[in-house]
Amino acid sequence: MSDTSLRLVWVYPDLLSTYGDQGNALVVERRARQRGLDVQRLDVRSDQPIPTSGDIYLIGGGEDRPQRLASERLLRDGGLNRAVDNGAIVFAVCAGYQIMGHEFVNDLGERSAGLGLLDVVSGRGEAERCVGDVLGDADEQLRLPQLTGFENHQGVTHLGPGVRPLARVQLGHGNGTGDGTEGAWRDTVFGTYLHGPVLARNPQIADLLIKLSLDVNALPPTDDTWYEALRQERIAAATQPA
Ligand code: GLN
Repeated sequence: MSDTSLRLVWVYPDLLSTYGDQGNALVVERRARQRGLDVQRLDVRSDQPIPTSGDIYLIGGGEDRPQRLASERLLRDGGLNRAVDNGAIVFAVCAGYQIMGHEFVNDLGERSAGLGLLDVVSGRGEAERCVGDVLGDADEQLRLPQLTGFENHQGVTHLGPGVRPLARVQLGHGNGTGDGTEGAWRDTVFGTYLHGPVLARNPQIADLLIKLSLDVNALPPTDDTWYEALRQERIAAATQPA
């Protein structure tokens, strides 16, 4: 990318946008503009080809059937894998996260192939669905504050050696395997079970994606009073006794 423009691609809003995922695109867009970047946002429906020239790709959460359709179409298209080969950044939430892995269990109870962009495998949890607030300490390499979010998933995700957990949960289930991990990442590909939308709850993750795309270590500060108030409110709500 040029140093003043950012191509933001929101992948398959018609299938994977069950949880207010447009909020993630809005937050990246706004925070990039606040830093003087010219943002071109492209919303790519599932009957359209995935452009390979994007800088940041966002993929949201969804129900089991749309998740299967999305993974089939993404695999057939191949554009997202090519974009990542070219250095693109991907941030995927919940169903989108599972699709980034090697495989997940679909709505028919069968294994669906994922894109293999993250070394993770998702199965169906035997226990109750993971629903509720999550607080997590982010991987120290990412230099992020405590993460907050809301999870709602039946799938459980096992991490392979090719990824690091995005966070360790203080509250909630995260990947749901009982190992205390939440999400996964490697290089420029990130997956999480956190909704919220997660980038509105944790704008520093949006900044991380922007920094990666610009290949810089820091961005000019922004006024985060509102975000911080939301963070404190959610942490208080999550930790108060029932
Ligand atoms: N269908 C997936 C699951 O239940 C993902 C759900 C979601 O995106 N919230 O695990």
